[in-house]
Formats: sequence, structure tokens, C-alpha cells
Amino acid sequence: MFYRLKTDLRLSIITLLGVSGLVGITPFAVMRFLQGNMLAGVVDLAIMLSIFSGMVYAWVTGDTARSGFFMAVVSASGAVAVGAVVGEPGLFWLYPVLVTSFFLTEARYAIFINVAAVVALIVHGVAFSSSVQMWSFATTAVVVSCCAYAFAHRNENQRERLEHLATVDPLTGVKNRRSMDEELTVATSVSARNGISQGLVLLDIDHFKKVNDDYGHSVGDEVLKELVALVQQNIRRSDQMFRFGGEEFVLLMSGVDEVGLRAVMHNLQQIIRRFLKHPGGSVTASFGVAVLKAGETPEDWFGRADVALYRAKETGRDRVVYADDIDAPATSGAPA
Ligand code: GH3
Ligand code: MG
Ligand code: MG
Repeated sequence: MFYRLKTDLRLSIITLLGVSGLVGITPFAVMRFLQGNMLAGVVDLAIMLSIFSGMVYAWVTGDTARSGFFMAVVSASGAVAVGAVVGEPGLFWLYPVLVTSFFLTEARYAIFINVAAVVALIVHGVAFSSSVQMWSFATTAVVVSCCAYAFAHRNENQRERLEHLATVDPLTGVKNRRSMDEELTVATSVSARNGISQGLVLLDIDHFKKVNDDYGHSVGDEVLKELVALVQQNIRRSDQMFRFGGEEFVLLMSGVDEVGLRAVMHNLQQIIRRFLKHPGGSVTASFGVAVLKAGETPEDWFGRADVALYRAKETGRDRVVYADDIDAPATSGAPA
């Protein structure tokens, strides 16, 4: 629970709004009922219930985009309703709404919600005792909204940058090992749910150390970048490529059957052999391939592809070895 709050800003704002809405509005709702102001009490109660259900929906479904938008609309309409019903004191409720809307939903929606709320209160007009007060309210609302927008925008940019740094390999631009771990877990659960076949390929450049030793590290870097470009041109957009580390890459291919996978691998091997070059000639790669088995863990799946890669290296490099072809003789040769 704390992990979700720490890692998901929108969920934490939704929760903050939900909890503080309950804690903050309850006394007002009680007070208004006690004072006999039934309409204001009902408005408070409706806001509380809506905010609370939005918060529960976000926690249960994880759909913070929808619930965030809902909470922004509800809290803005609530603040307008309170302003319209109780007058001037209700205006203060709009300020937290103007700020949080940018953290609850996309900027364009938040701008629309904020403008609509301020305009609604101005048009209604009852909450203001003078036009000076009304225009002061409008101006401060705009200033608060602009500051909230700037802060939310900057925060979102930094989050995207951090996410990029944490998940993408800076040299080749493909996703890194950390992303791979996540995607393998996703692939195994998708396959368990939908039965979609998943192919995993481990690719390791042959004798890469020698390329570095003979021609320098920067030439080695270029070879890595060219390899990535070549592979990406020859796989489907839905296939994913990761840099596992050094000169080792991983391909995750969804929805490809055994026959299709063998054709793709044959093609990739030929293309690398023909087009991937260093100053002294061709560069080749070895491949270990494993198709996900029912009920297999990501670790076991990866382990089988790794064994296949090891076999490809052991038996001469520049080849594709399928985990199934290694498993098959052992199974068929086992005593019944
Ligand atoms: P094998 O055919 O058995 O795979 O031999 P290899 O030489 O490719 O494998 P080895 O593991 O011995 O060497 C891998 C080399 O990859 C060693 C390391 O210097 C190089 N390497 C790792 N990361 C980078 C990188 O980012 N850039 C460059 N240029 N070289 C790298
Ligand atoms: Mg290696
Ligand atoms: Mg290697």
C-alpha cells in the first residue's frame, strides 16, 4: 500500500483528497444539518460520498486516469455548489481544487475544469459582496492555477526523464534489463490468461571482445548500435528488444508460433551475418531461443533460453539453438 502511494503521484493525490475531504467536510456537513441548512448539508454529503467512491475506485481498479478526472470534476462542482449555497465562505474551497486538479487529471482537462468553476461562480455572483471582491477572486484563482500548472508540468517532465533514464539503455536506445524483467513477467501472465504464445531470444555477439581489442571501444560501440538498428528493422513493431548487458540482447516476441519464430530467427541470423560489419569483416551472433511453456516462471523460461545460447556458443557460434531441440532428445531418451 505504501509502495503504491510512494510510486504513484496521482493515486497519492486522490487518496489525500479523499481522506482530507472526509475529515475536512464531515464537520461542516454535521454543522449544516444541525443548523437546519439541509441543502448545504446534502451538498457536503454528496461531495464526501463522491470523493470517497472515487478514491475506492482508484485503489481497487488502479485506473487513476479515470478516477482522477472524476475527482477533479466532483471537487470542482462541489466547491462551486458550496459557494453558490453558502456564499462567500464557500469560495475558499475552490483554491485547493484549483491546485489539485492539475495533479488529478491531464493539464487540458484541469484548465477547462478550473476555468469552468471560476466562471460558474462569477456568473452566479451570489458569493461576492462587491465587484472588487469578485475580480480579486478571479485574479487570484488564475494566479493559483498558473502556478499549479507550472509545478505539475515540471513534475511530469522530471518523472518522464527519470523513467527514461531508469528503463532505457543510453548507448543503443533500447530498453534495459530492468524493463526486461518487468516485461517478461507481464508476458508470462498475459500468456497464462490468453494463451498467447511468447518467444524469448537471447542474442550474444560472437568474439566481441576481439572487436574491441583490435579496433577500439568506440568501434565496438558502433557495432552495438548497428546491431540494434538491424534487428529493429527486421522484427515486428510489437516485438520488444532489450539490452541485457554488454553485447547481449534479448528479444521478446508475442503471438508468434514455433514455425514463424524459426523463420524470423533464420532471417535475423542471415541479415546479421551479411550486414553487420567491423573494419576487418563480418560480425556474427549466437542465439538461444525458448518458447514459453504453460505455467513456466520468467526465471525458468529465461534459463532455458540461456542454456540454448550456451549450446550455440559451445557448438561453434553463429547459430540459432532452440531450447525445445535440447529438451527433446533428453525427454525421448528417458526411460519410460
Ligand atoms: P563470445 O563469442 O564467447 O560471446 O565472446 P565475446 O568476446 O563476445 O564475449 P566476452 O564476454 O568475452 O566479451 C564481451 C565483451 O563485450 C567484453 C566487453 O569489453 C565488451 N563490452 C561490454 N559492453 C560494452 C560496451 O558498451 N561497449 C563496447 N565497445 N564493448 C562492450
Ligand atoms: Mg556475452
Ligand atoms: Mg559475446
